[in-house]
Amino acid sequence: LKFVYDFTEGNKDLKDLLGGKGANLAEMTNLGLPVPPGFTITTEACKVYLDSGEEPPALRDEVSAHLEALEKKMGKKLGQPDNPLLVSVRSGAKFSMPGMMDTVLNIGLSDKSVQGLAKQAGDDRFAWDSYRRLIQMFGKTVLGVDGELFEDALEAAKEAKKVADDTQLDAADLKKLVTKFKKIVKTEAGRDFPQDPREQMDLAIKAVFDSWNGDRAKLYRRQERIPHDLGTAVNVCSMVFGNLGPDSGTGVAFTRDPASGHQGVYGDYLQNAQGEDVVAGIRNTVPLAELENIDKKSYDQLLQIMETLENHYKDLCDIEFTIERGKLWMLQTRVGKRTAAAAFRIATQLVDQGLIDEAEALQRVTGAQLAQLMFPRFDEKAKVQQVARGIAASPGAAVGKAVFDSYTAVKWSRSGEKVILVRRETNPDDLDGMIAAEGILTSRGGKTSHAAVVARGMGKTCVCGAEELEVDTKRRRMTVPGGHVVEEGDVISIDGSSGKVYLGEVPVVPSPVVEYFEGRMHAGADDADELVEAVHRIMAFADRKRRLRVRANADNAEDALRARRFGAQGIGLCRTEHMFLGDRRELVERLILADTEAEREESLKQLLPLQKQDFVELFEAMDGLPVTVRLLDPPLHEFLPDITELSVRVALAESRQEPHENELRLLQAVHRLHEQNPMLGLRGVRLGLVIPGLFTMQVRAIAEAAAERKAAKGDPRAEVMIPLVGTVQELEIVREEADNVIAEVESATGTELKLAIGTMIELPRAALTAGQIAEAAEFFSFGTNDLTQTVWGFSRDDVEASFFTAYLEKGIFGVSPFETIDKDGVGKLVRDAAKAGRATRPDLKLGVCGEHGGDPESVHFFHEVGLDYVSCSPFRIPVARLEAGRAAS
Ligand code: PEP
Ligand code: MG
Repeated sequence: LKFVYDFTEGNKDLKDLLGGKGANLAEMTNLGLPVPPGFTITTEACKVYLDSGEEPPALRDEVSAHLEALEKKMGKKLGQPDNPLLVSVRSGAKFSMPGMMDTVLNIGLSDKSVQGLAKQAGDDRFAWDSYRRLIQMFGKTVLGVDGELFEDALEAAKEAKKVADDTQLDAADLKKLVTKFKKIVKTEAGRDFPQDPREQMDLAIKAVFDSWNGDRAKLYRRQERIPHDLGTAVNVCSMVFGNLGPDSGTGVAFTRDPASGHQGVYGDYLQNAQGEDVVAGIRNTVPLAELENIDKKSYDQLLQIMETLENHYKDLCDIEFTIERGKLWMLQTRVGKRTAAAAFRIATQLVDQGLIDEAEALQRVTGAQLAQLMFPRFDEKAKVQQVARGIAASPGAAVGKAVFDSYTAVKWSRSGEKVILVRRETNPDDLDGMIAAEGILTSRGGKTSHAAVVARGMGKTCVCGAEELEVDTKRRRMTVPGGHVVEEGDVISIDGSSGKVYLGEVPVVPSPVVEYFEGRMHAGADDADELVEAVHRIMAFADRKRRLRVRANADNAEDALRARRFGAQGIGLCRTEHMFLGDRRELVERLILADTEAEREESLKQLLPLQKQDFVELFEAMDGLPVTVRLLDPPLHEFLPDITELSVRVALAESRQEPHENELRLLQAVHRLHEQNPMLGLRGVRLGLVIPGLFTMQVRAIAEAAAERKAAKGDPRAEVMIPLVGTVQELEIVREEADNVIAEVESATGTELKLAIGTMIELPRAALTAGQIAEAAEFFSFGTNDLTQTVWGFSRDDVEASFFTAYLEKGIFGVSPFETIDKDGVGKLVRDAAKAGRATRPDLKLGVCGEHGGDPESVHFFHEVGLDYVSCSPFRIPVARLEAGRAAS
């Protein structure tokens, strides 16, 4: 096993081994670009060190050999007193973890070699400044000295000299500072700052390894879902200096605009400075284009390199570079991060340039980015007063009156006010308020805080962890930086996509992408912007590639029509219980509570025409496309009056000696039917089996509606779906009744209906006996909401608000299993049941209609296990189409 690679030995595909930075430095080296020579210690070495607490024995010799080769190439030795080679030691993991791990620059400087550097550079100040930076960085990151002690000493030196800027300290000042810094190291770390350059390097390498397990790095990985066992590589690179005078400098560049995707010269340059100065923002940078006036030769060379890199990586690259006395050096490149809008534009631009094909273009965008583009947003042209910036926890643009407790949120929203719930942090008691609010703003907590997790689950805009805000819930106000006080009732606006918080009402505009999907904006039309054009083309790529069909979960004609505009190829789940809410609820209540057959039949008779009309409208909206109608599956508690409320009513009537026979009867029935865990009670097929006539009424309504549509020359494609089946026997009974009713309607109307009958697979037993169930089902639709609930034993109404935050924080799962399918558990059942079902019935149609049907990662899984379609809410259809296309390419 080889633990060290020279930059000339690696390439960009070795990110696992060399980390992103190392792999790209190697790639640039091999492209013949000016990269300062160096070598990379592999992630494998790091893993051995982290596992065993010791570096692999072979590492020391390998490092020595590579260092020797480097010294030969550079014509000087590490820390050589008269002409020192200096190196940087930087972390570089497979995935970029900006600022999370350690870097030490200027290694090789010592009391002796600082003199040599001064002579070689012809600049005393520069040499002592470099040395002071080394002791500071090394002291902090390698020896664990509190960084503030160095900062304080630096401040004191500036004060003593009455200057404001570091650059105004001269060589003598910095020399004194070095002495001071060394003293700090000695007292705090209990050892001298090492004078041996090799010892400096070895300790720095170890410190970089250790920084992989630093608290910040661990937290970042958990949030970004980066595995903890990858380890980091370490890059040892010969130093070049951007702070050697006006003909030196450092900068960053993008091969195109990461915000818009447009080609051009984008970036910043800082004369006479080192990279950290840019990051620290001590001095103002100039736009990269200015470099042309400062150093034309380097500028031209840089532009040429940028073109080379873009053509080579076939993507937007970002670059860090340094100019040392007129000589350009490339310090880093990588495929650059970009906004969602830029991702779509760049992907189509690269296709047009012939650099990538359609399949590759699909890999350059994500469903999450598309979803982001579909949220309404604040008008970019609006004048705004930004007061804080927190974590963008759940996207969207929300405007409302600030309220500081859930009670007020609910009260005000009931009277028609739009409110933003502002809390220091939220807890399960805030749930009502969160539901009532347009958006949620907290001053504490990260991406997995309660507020963030719950808001994302509800699709609500949320900004969390806006630490600059002082939230005072007792006095119902918050103070923003600068001292302005926002009182309860003051309007604020929050942007969940950027984390920004504004005072007052910022106007919201609909997303142009939604306007496009809605058909209100046409790609190719004059007023369509580039983004819509790009989305249009990418969607076409996806539709050409994908194998999965995409259907909608929709219960009424309006949703169905929208879903169709968004590209739905049918309805995968029409939840008929939603048709019984509102006015019709009483009818259902009466049906469920009926004591006599006559009473029951009366309710059914009244429901039938209403149901039939629902279906006629739905089939018309989805004419020519399949519509899966699920028979009633109400958790009973959603239909019956609340037991406490009813008890109070009865007690009151009793005490007033008022007549209350009906209430009493209702109360008795509610008591009888009251369930401790209604999600596992009298639901779905169970209800159909104990309430005679209910399911047959629904099947009749479906059949008659279909017949009516046929008579009107329509093309209805209804499918009847039985919910919550656990055993084939249940299905057989319902099926027989349904077949009879359908036959009756067919002969009465003289039409052949061809209604498919199938079932949901949403209980573990159904999944485990899928082979048997398929004998009585023409299709399966996986109900992954209930399947997740029952496989994990997680009550779906309760857990997300109670202990999921803790689970996410502890990393038990990176994302709620109700959001992304749990592949190993729930997913395994889906995979096995699909296989068993098809073994029984090869033409069994397979779909999924749980929430997972619109979740990007889950869509890939359903593609992989061979389902025929996914079904999701209308707004997620474009995302599902895109991800289905990505999964297939
Ligand atoms: C499911 O359980 O996944 C499902 C789609 O049904 P519901 O959410 O209505 O229970
Ligand atoms: Mg279900």
